[in-house]
Amino acid sequence: MAAAPTKARIRSYNVGFGDCFLLTFFYGDDETRNILIDFGSTKKSDFGPDGGMLEIAEKIGEHSGGKLEMVVATHRHADHISGFGGKPGRVIAGLEPELVVQPWTENPDIAPDARAPAPASAGRGGAPAMVSRLADMQTVAAAVLAEIPVLEASPSVRKPIREQLSFLGETNLANAAAVRNLMTMGRRQAVYASFGTQLPVADLIPGVGLQVLGPPTLEQSATIARERSSDPNEFWHLAGASADATIQAGGDPPPLFPEFAISSDSIPQEARWVIPEIERMRSEEMLAIVRSLDSALNNTSLILLFEVGDTRLLFPGDAQIENWKYALSAAPDHEAIRKRLAGASFYKVGHHGSLNATPKSLWKLFEHRGEKPAPGRLMTMVSTAAGKHGHVEDRTEVPRSTLIDALTELSDLHNTQALRSKTEFWNDVEFHF
Ligand SMILES: [Zn+2]
Repeated sequence: MAAAPTKARIRSYNVGFGDCFLLTFFYGDDETRNILIDFGSTKKSDFGPDGGMLEIAEKIGEHSGGKLEMVVATHRHADHISGFGGKPGRVIAGLEPELVVQPWTENPDIAPDARAPAPASAGRGGAPAMVSRLADMQTVAAAVLAEIPVLEASPSVRKPIREQLSFLGETNLANAAAVRNLMTMGRRQAVYASFGTQLPVADLIPGVGLQVLGPPTLEQSATIARERSSDPNEFWHLAGASADATIQAGGDPPPLFPEFAISSDSIPQEARWVIPEIERMRSEEMLAIVRSLDSALNNTSLILLFEVGDTRLLFPGDAQIENWKYALSAAPDHEAIRKRLAGASFYKVGHHGSLNATPKSLWKLFEHRGEKPAPGRLMTMVSTAAGKHGHVEDRTEVPRSTLIDALTELSDLHNTQALRSKTEFWNDVEFHF
C-alpha cells in the first residue's frame, strides 16, 4: 500500500435535511480508506421508503468497498445521527468501522447515566454538570413536542413559532438506538475528542494529517456552555431580525413551563382575555429554551481538518461561533490555526447553511475564495433542504440566502438540495495529490 493517498473524494448523500458525508482516500489503483462523517435526517428525501435511509446505508457499503476505517458523529442532533439507529444503523455497523469518533460531551464516563463511576470531578471543570444539563434539556425537547397539539389549537400562537418548536423539538430528541450503536460499533476504539486530541489514525489513513479544532473542553473555553446568541458581526441574518430578537433568551433562562394546562373553565369570564396572551408568552418561552438547547448541542460539534500536503478539507459539523471562537482566537496556537484554515481547499458548510454557523471571520480567512471558476478555487458542499427551518420574513431561513449567494459567487458550491435523481442521490468532489 502506498504511503500517502493519491486522491480524495468527498461524497455527500441526499438525506433531506441532515448531513451524510463519505470521505474516501485512494491509495494507488485499488486500495481505499473510508470515513463516514454523520448520517442523519429530520426531513427525509423523497426517494425510497423511510426517506431512502436504508438505500443510502447500502450505497455507503457499496461505495466504501464494504469497509469503513472510521465513523465520525459530529454531535448528537437527530439530523446527524438518526441513520445510526435501526436497520440503516445495522448496515453501517456491518461495515466494521475501526474507530468511532464523537465529541467529548458524549463520553459515557462523564454521562449522568454512566455505569462506571464518574472520574473525580477535580480538574474537570463542571463537565458532568454540562453533560447532564444537555440530557435534561433533551427531556425538555420531548415535553415541548408533546405540547404542540395544544399550541395548534391556540390562534394566539403564531404559526412560525409552532413550526419552529416542532422542528427544534424533533431535532433535539434523544436518539437512544443511534447513540448505543455509535458507542459499541468501533472495533478497535471509541474516542471522545476535543480541541487538540490526537486521533489514532496513522495506520488507518496513512499520509493524512487530522487535527481536531473543536469543540473545546470547558477548561479551554467556558463560552460553549453558554448559549449567548447574536453577534451582528459574525452572523448572516443582518440587522432587523426583530422577531428573532424578541424571542432570544436574555440572561438566565426563563422558568420552565408550569405543570398545569390553561383551562378557560378555571378562569373567570372577566379575565379570559388574558388566556391568548399567556399562551403566546409560553410558546415564546418554550422556543427560547429549545433554541438554547439547539445551540448548546451544535456547539458540541467536532470540527475536523484533514490535510494531505497542502490540501486541507474542513468538516465543522454544525459548530457555531462559541465553539469556533477557541480555535480562531483563544487557543495558544490560534495564529497558526488561522493560517492553516486560510489555505482550506474544501469547506463543508456548517449547519446546513444557516445564518449562525459560518462565522464571517472564518469565511473571510479562506484564501481560495474567488469570483471566477479556476483551478484551486475553494470547493464547498452543503447538505440542506429549504422550507424545513426558519423563515424568510425574519431572515432566519435555512439555508440562509445571503450565505448561499456568497458561496455561489465565491466558491464551487455543491448543494444536495439540487439532487433530483432517485438512483444517483449524491454529489462528489475530488482532489488529486
Ligand atoms: Zn444539523
